Amino acid sequence: MRRGYLPTYLPTYTHTHAMLLRIPYTAPFTALPPLPSSATTLPAAVTAVANFLAHARSTVVLSGAGISVASGLPDYRGAKGTYTLNKEYRPTFFSEFVHGDRARRRYWARSFLGWRGVEGVRPNRGHDAVARLWRGGWVGGVVTQNVDSLHTAADADLPVTNLHGLLATIVCLTCRTTYPRAAFQLALRTLNPSWAAFLDQLREDPSTPVRRNPDGDIDVPGVEYESFRYPPCKTCLENPAYRGRIPVDNDGAALPSTVRFHSEADTQGHAHVPGVLKPTLVFFGESVLQAVKDEAEARVDAADAILVLGSSLATYSAWRLVRRAREQGKKIGVVNLGGVRGEAEFWSDGGGRVGARYRLGDGRDGVRVEFDVGEVLDGAVEVLLRTDQREKNILAAHA
Ligand SMILES: [Zn+2]
Repeated sequence: MRRGYLPTYLPTYTHTHAMLLRIPYTAPFTALPPLPSSATTLPAAVTAVANFLAHARSTVVLSGAGISVASGLPDYRGAKGTYTLNKEYRPTFFSEFVHGDRARRRYWARSFLGWRGVEGVRPNRGHDAVARLWRGGWVGGVVTQNVDSLHTAADADLPVTNLHGLLATIVCLTCRTTYPRAAFQLALRTLNPSWAAFLDQLREDPSTPVRRNPDGDIDVPGVEYESFRYPPCKTCLENPAYRGRIPVDNDGAALPSTVRFHSEADTQGHAHVPGVLKPTLVFFGESVLQAVKDEAEARVDAADAILVLGSSLATYSAWRLVRRAREQGKKIGVVNLGGVRGEAEFWSDGGGRVGARYRLGDGRDGVRVEFDVGEVLDGAVEVLLRTDQREKNILAAHA
């Protein structure tokens, strides 16, 4: 094991592969040939996507990690849909985070090290193109699986449903107070000077073998996370109702709880200890909030077409939105490198075969292309601004 780059004051342990859990989806999906079948070149793909958008009254965009790759964020899957980036990635599951101080130390340590890679990212031309499509009236709204806030960074007015939450804020599981993640980073830095020194060392030496994950955390093989300290919610600490029930050390960092505290929140399946802070992103093993589900469904229901951008739809909460659109007879478009879950059914004529109107059409009834999201959308916006003279589009061209 390569450990030479680790500062000696960080205790280490041997990585036990047998203990790694797997996240639920790892098998590759088979990619369909392009639709229409003529869309084998970038210009043809651009034209097909432009036709798709031009002939819909309103399209809802469903985006995934693939749209943020050009911003420097990693995708979970490689181009062939396999889980190539980080086979050993073992995410923290919701229940272990909520119930285990140990899991929280591990999570926050990795998140602390990975934060810089997330904080500095900017929207790319894929996000910009989506915003322009909305300004132009072709796109009615966006549902994203990404937790990186980049759609909003591209256009603060763009209607976005963040299906899996956001990384930029943290929330107290007891009192629901939210805090900016950036400020929390400073608190973590203060409580963990040796980790802060390690982080500075990582910045200076980019060749250090670490693995970034799209949720903004980082894997450093061989590190013992137990020494990492994190603070509980300030609001709860000051709440007399919780006096003495939130164990903290002299610096205000959470102490491992040897006693099981049964708070009111506990009966709702939340933390045993009051004041546990969690990022507002949805963890594996955690449910999407009903209000968020409803909003995402309303966006699908309000559109007559759905355009999937940079997602293999491996996550059920995203896939079911496309299934819903299909059940409503809506048009489906996909721009993705690699296969998409169940996509053969999206354009089926009922007999399991892709219908001729999709294969031989011009993209208006359905489109499936395998090119970079930013390139395709950028081109499609240009085509639409030239050719699709909707009244509102003319306004948008000057926005
Ligand atoms: Zn609180």
